[in-house]
Amino acid sequence: MSKSRKVVFIILMILSLSVNAFGQKAKYVFLFIGDGMGINQVNAANVFFSLDKAKYGEQPLLFPTFPIATFATTYSTNYQITDSAASGTAIASGSKTFQGALGVDKDTVSVMSIAEMARDKGKKVGIITSVSLEHATPAAFYAHVAKRDWNYEIGCQLAESGFDFFAGSGLRAKDADRKGNPKENIFKVIENSGYTIARGREDYLSKKDGAEKILLISKDDPGKSSLDFAIDRKEGGLNIKTMTEDAIEFLTKNNKKGFFIMVEGGIIDHACHTNDAATVFREIKDMDDAVRVAYDFYLKHPKETLIIVTADHDTGGISAGNGPGSMMRLEYFENQKQSISMFSQAMARLNAEKGKQMKWEEMKEFLGDELGFWREIDINWEDEKKLRDAFEESFVNQKDTEVSDLYTTIRKLASVARQVMQKEARIGWTCDSHTAGYVPVYAVGAGSDGIKSVKDNSQIHAVIRQAAGY
Ligand SMILES: [Zn+2]
Repeated sequence: MSKSRKVVFIILMILSLSVNAFGQKAKYVFLFIGDGMGINQVNAANVFFSLDKAKYGEQPLLFPTFPIATFATTYSTNYQITDSAASGTAIASGSKTFQGALGVDKDTVSVMSIAEMARDKGKKVGIITSVSLEHATPAAFYAHVAKRDWNYEIGCQLAESGFDFFAGSGLRAKDADRKGNPKENIFKVIENSGYTIARGREDYLSKKDGAEKILLISKDDPGKSSLDFAIDRKEGGLNIKTMTEDAIEFLTKNNKKGFFIMVEGGIIDHACHTNDAATVFREIKDMDDAVRVAYDFYLKHPKETLIIVTADHDTGGISAGNGPGSMMRLEYFENQKQSISMFSQAMARLNAEKGKQMKWEEMKEFLGDELGFWREIDINWEDEKKLRDAFEESFVNQKDTEVSDLYTTIRKLASVARQVMQKEARIGWTCDSHTAGYVPVYAVGAGSDGIKSVKDNSQIHAVIRQAAGY
């Protein structure tokens, strides 16, 4: 080699080394999706959890402190306000599509998800959710169907995905396809595709070492549509934080090629549909706890790990602040012991037990125990009248009036109590459905700079591809 050629060769070597050092690919990718978690849900949750420190402006949640943050639009091709299927597809595949569509574009042509691209690059893939595994958001990463409610077909596509780790509340698909034709039990189909099925965490721990691919669901009910809300969860109950820890362990075992993990905080949305702020805050914290697991991993592999946290859409149009004046009293929500849905069920049990014999004074005690009314929270006579009217209708007159949203039906008295609580705490909601509100996008780690240019949810896909080299 001539002297000048040698110089060129050395320069090229140095250049290639510096590209490797500074342009390192994201070998490990975490994508967190808070279903229904608009910008204002994050803001309100941050305010709620900063109360402990009595310092306004503190950032008690981890992911809102990530160095890169932007916001994105979420519309579908046929509505300004998206559903989780169209937005899940946009995030997963970079293709805008119509309401209800999973893994297909607006012309119903299959589009590849980022998880499938990771799999094809030899990465391990994990899909985690607090709802059932064929629900829209997780399914957007492996299914290709025109309608999100084709549960059996979606379940079969899960079996064929070749992904390595699935964890969620269960699978709603049973033994028949969408036309009602009898089919093989969906869990049998999944097992026949090489998956080990673990029912509950104990079962998971005993089976994981012998499993090549694994699917973790609830112990008690394989068709369970969601995990318990964090606020209602019993000790040891399945949760997305532990599932994220399990996924990292499972996907790094005998694997040097890296992984892609999607984690959905799926029931933030359910609590938003019910306008249940206290439960929403705990669900966002629950997802933040899972993000912390990913962040600890990132700290060990900072140059090779990318974490993105976003949402598929806003639900409920929450506002932190609902006048009069500048005072918020989010600390009132600390008195709420359980989700509004469980609270309503407790009320129904009381009605079944005591019915007409129930006295208003006893109900006041119950509302004091459960929500802090007349104790930590002053209730004015107008609100007391509303509560008492609903009590008389339900208990004295035994009328079974209920209020429903997409996922939950609650008793009218529980609904009135919820409204009184929100009003006193100064939280506003605009509706019990999705909105077109912006969603946040936070990122840290390898290739996270690309997120700065994201303006729409469909652009996140390209940033991950670029960062990870899929
Ligand atoms: Zn929803």
